[in-house]
Amino acid sequence: MANQSPVRDTASSATFVDELHLIPRWSVAAAVFAFVGMQYFFWEVIPNHHHPIGLRLYFAISWSLLAALYMLMIGYITRDTPRRGMTTWQWVVICVVLPTGIGAVLYFLLRQPLISLCPACGTHVESEYHFCPQCAYQVSAACGRCYRSVSITDLYCVYCGHDLASDNRPARLHAFSD
Ligand SMILES: [Zn+2]
Ligand SMILES: [Zn+2]
Repeated sequence: MANQSPVRDTASSATFVDELHLIPRWSVAAAVFAFVGMQYFFWEVIPNHHHPIGLRLYFAISWSLLAALYMLMIGYITRDTPRRGMTTWQWVVICVVLPTGIGAVLYFLLRQPLISLCPACGTHVESEYHFCPQCAYQVSAACGRCYRSVSITDLYCVYCGHDLASDNRPARLHAFSD
């Protein structure tokens, strides 16, 4: 959790399982296909009987898993880019062209913050915004003294210790709907 950013990234607090649900079915199917294909390649296409079985098993499994992971990654990117206002095909091409997962690493380093719509006026709001830039609607919970992100359930600001209950701004967050 070495997040040096002064603003807590509310997007990254979405659980890993939530993110996995983004992966489309076709990419799961492609992953299974890639796994089976790599197995076929290792055991049928290049049956190398000079190497010990353990080594062959190791390479067959690890390369198949990598290929499957790659398919899942591309599937994830096709779903993740639209909600960040990024161009999907560019990133898919980058991931396919750059070998050994470099494209995927680049993607996670360079991807834009999540974009949502302001509930009041429909303007695009990035995930680290506290207020809509067009209508000042409060879209995420913020400390009333230091204005950094707080969790809706926190009683005190984790950055400055401010008593959040004493904020008489429209709750800490009036966009919090569920
Ligand atoms: Zn707005
Ligand atoms: Zn604070």
